[in-house]
Amino acid sequence: MSFLTLDRVSHHYFSKENYTKALNDISFSIEEGEFISILGPSGCGKSTILSIIAGIIPQTEGEVLLKQQKIEETKLGIGYMLQQDYLFPWKTILDNVLLGPKINKNNTNKLKEKAFDLLEEVGLGDVVKDYPSSLSGGMRQRAALVRTLITEPEVLLLDEPFSALDYLTKLKLENLVSDILKTYKKTAILVTHDIGEAISMSDRIFVMETNPGTISKEFDVPIELRNEKPFYVRRHPKYQVLFDKVWETLTKTETISENSKGDVEIT
Ligand code: ADP
Ligand code: MG
Repeated sequence: MSFLTLDRVSHHYFSKENYTKALNDISFSIEEGEFISILGPSGCGKSTILSIIAGIIPQTEGEVLLKQQKIEETKLGIGYMLQQDYLFPWKTILDNVLLGPKINKNNTNKLKEKAFDLLEEVGLGDVVKDYPSSLSGGMRQRAALVRTLITEPEVLLLDEPFSALDYLTKLKLENLVSDILKTYKKTAILVTHDIGEAISMSDRIFVMETNPGTISKEFDVPIELRNEKPFYVRRHPKYQVLFDKVWETLTKTETISENSKGDVEIT
């Protein structure tokens, strides 16, 4: 039995004047603890897939099941991390992390201890009482990660969480997030425009094409790469082989998109 299933999911966005078919017939299954990346041109529906899984927008057609429960009916937690950290500037890092539990009236001492432990684990032990404005972009994203993990989500959805960071910070965070997700055996879906990031963090990669958004190809990441830290994956001989295959698929997708739309960029 798979952990998360999308079965023939399609989505239309409607406005008064027109509609956009954002997703067409998306089906896939993910096992518990798997890390999946989604790559594809801008506007192909990557964020729409995550928003549907998060239950933020209901799909027009098809079904999403998490642990065999329909996503619109389940109470299972889903964590969502975006490019922007959305930390509240007037709250300390600790209070930002504990905001979710506080809203859910679950702000116990045990959870506070867990928040301290997690913040320590991501290297923010010394800044728990500081405000977000005094932290670097990478530190803020680490705080956002802890805020997402503290609620113990079943699935972690990551929508380009590293794309606003400088290259070095991004590489360090990839290592950290990968370590933490493996430690806590979290199931995750990452949307990224970075092929290297997708290869170095994932078990499988889905490549999408646009108009309407579909999954055109799926790649299994070789086991030797999965067992390495992201930083070292990039040096592995098998990395470049897979990179070239994904690149070829993406550039074909780009050509198709350009023919059908005009100004689609690979992101
Ligand atoms: P991606 O994340 O791959 O860039 P999105 O999922 O954001 O793509 O968008 C997929 C398509 O749906 C795009 O054509 C986009 O313009 C359209 N779209 C996204 N959100 C909305 C919305 N709220 N209303 C109307 N159209 C939307
Ligand atoms: Mg997006």
